[in-house]
Parts: sequence; C-alpha cells; structure tokens
Amino acid sequence: MCIEFFGAVKALWEGMLTVFKHLFKRAVTLEYPEKKRDLNGAFRGKPVVEGCIGCGICQRVCPSGAIEFKKDENGKVVFYKFDLKKCIFCGNCAFYCPKGAIKMTKEYELAVQNKDELNLIYRGGAEND
Ligand code: SF4
Ligand code: SF4
Repeated sequence: MCIEFFGAVKALWEGMLTVFKHLFKRAVTLEYPEKKRDLNGAFRGKPVVEGCIGCGICQRVCPSGAIEFKKDENGKVVFYKFDLKKCIFCGNCAFYCPKGAIKMTKEYELAVQNKDELNLIYRGGAEND
C-alpha cells in the first residue's frame, strides 16, 4: 500500500516536472486554421493549368491517371481535368510539361463536402467554368 502510494506520488511529480519544463518553451504546434505555417519552396499543392497545347505528356507521366483532356477538331484543348481524388501531388505533370503550363500551387486546404468538387475542370483557361 505504502509503496503504491509513493509510486503514484513519484509519477505525479514526474508528470508535473515535464509540464513545467515545457511551460516556458516556444510552442511546437500552431493554432490552425487561424495561424498557418510557412511552406517551403518545394511544397506541392493543388495543380493548375494554363496555356496547354494538348501534347499529352502530362497524362502519360501521371502515375495515378488523374489527368484527362479533350481537343476540338482544330487541335485546341477545350477541356482539361485534374481529378484530385486520384492526384498524389507528385508534380510529374508540372515537371515534364514542355510548355510550363502546369503549376503546383501552395494550396493544400482541399477538403470538400461533395467529392465531385475535386474534379478541377478547365475550359478555355478558367477553372470549373
Ligand atoms: S504536358 Fe503541358 S502542354 Fe502537354 S498536355 Fe499536359 S499541360 Fe498540356
Ligand atoms: S501531380 Fe502527379 S498525380 Fe497529380 S496530376 Fe500531376 S502527375 Fe498526376
């Protein structure tokens, strides 16, 4: 009984000591979403496309089949889609695009209520129009 009591007091003391040790240190967490961490330059978030010529390289190098596009009879890209349900944000499409048409933005807050909203569709250059 006595041993158990002193064991409990020791554990409590050690716990308090740990709390006091961290009380005056800088917090390692942020009050998200009010505060956000600075992202480094290599961060890859939501991909966007502008100025696509429809060569198809991005589609071939995408490991998850997240890209679809259609061209009209004149070869103009009239529909381009990133399916963010499939995208793994690897950045291959942006890296290999010969026109630099794809950019990996820093946008990472991509949660939606309806999964259809994760289809980023571009027609004539604008997103989801
Ligand atoms: S690689 Fe670039 S130019 Fe080619 S289809 Fe993809 S986005 Fe368009
Ligand atoms: S970032 Fe990777 S997974 Fe996403 S669309 Fe581009 S190539 Fe595909």
